[in-house]
Amino acid sequence: MSIPQAKLELRPLGKTGLNVSSVGFGASPLGSVFGPVAEDDAVATVRDAFRLGINFFDTSPYYGGTLSEKMLGKALKALQVPRGDYIVATKCGRYKEGFDFSAERVRKSIDESLERLQLDYVDILHCHDIEFGSLDQIVSETIPALQKLKQEGKTRFIGITGLPLHIFTYVLDRVPPGTIDVILSYCHYGINDSTLLDLLPYLKSKGVGVISASPLAMGLLTEQGPPEWHPASPELKSACKAAVAHCKSKGKKITKLALQYSLANKEISSVLVGMSSVSQVEENVAAVTELEGLGMDQETLSEVEAILEPVKNLTWPSGIDQK
Ligand code: NAD
Repeated sequence: MSIPQAKLELRPLGKTGLNVSSVGFGASPLGSVFGPVAEDDAVATVRDAFRLGINFFDTSPYYGGTLSEKMLGKALKALQVPRGDYIVATKCGRYKEGFDFSAERVRKSIDESLERLQLDYVDILHCHDIEFGSLDQIVSETIPALQKLKQEGKTRFIGITGLPLHIFTYVLDRVPPGTIDVILSYCHYGINDSTLLDLLPYLKSKGVGVISASPLAMGLLTEQGPPEWHPASPELKSACKAAVAHCKSKGKKITKLALQYSLANKEISSVLVGMSSVSQVEENVAAVTELEGLGMDQETLSEVEAILEPVKNLTWPSGIDQK
């Protein structure tokens, strides 16, 4: 059986040779981290995303304490399409129980992930939120362990993820060129925070593919608002709430504007947005198509930028003291 796939813009991911859809499917919501998601809905959401041209799916054993990987695995299997038709990234080192970036744990981790995902290999294996481990251990122990997994064919490419941007330069400056294929940054390329922009020339010089996640700032730029656990300060939360209310009063969708803002920079290979329903998938894919055809609503963007100006690039602490 095959699913006729709509055409969505594909972008090359660094030097991997992979061409990823400009919007990638963030599967953390399938772990019910933003609210409960039924299995049937998860399967239907992934199917619709694939049908509309999304070929890149991102998960982690951490999301929902392995639930996201299990749901994504079921949903991908239900597509009944050749394995090469979709690109899957998962992560290692961060779990519900805590962090463990040891070689022994990451070796075990990929086998557990592959079982939950019902796959023989993943396309990308990321070290998840490395600022919570020793960055020197990431360089000397975790990345070499991932290189072995790459040689064994359990992952095709290696990535690192985290919030503070300095972690990427720290690690990339200490590993041989070509060791790390991609980085995944989050909450740093959206309307309220675009600090990833300054790092793009460096990442390009290293030949590293760039994935940017959370264009909706993990729910801050949505009408339903952020989840309880969101780490933003009250100041940032209330400015985003005001921006959302402004768009709503004009009959505009802030989610569309926010996603289009992130998508407009083509040096970012894929923008990962968390999705948990068919309607969200359809809205987000429509935002891509509309951006290509009509461009952005510059007037509303300027108004939203003005509201967010006092909190522009305001982030929150993440990780351990590396000294
Ligand atoms: P996000 O900014 O994509 O926001 C997700 C929230 O927005 C969810 O509640 C979702 O249901 C909602 N949403 C999506 N489309 C919507 C629409 N059209 N209308 C209304 N609401 C909508 O945040 P995220 O999910 O945290 O990030 C995206 C993905 O990126 C994650 O699922 C994950 O795969 C990845 N990610 C990775 C890291 C990391 O590696 N450290 C960190 C953050 C995110």
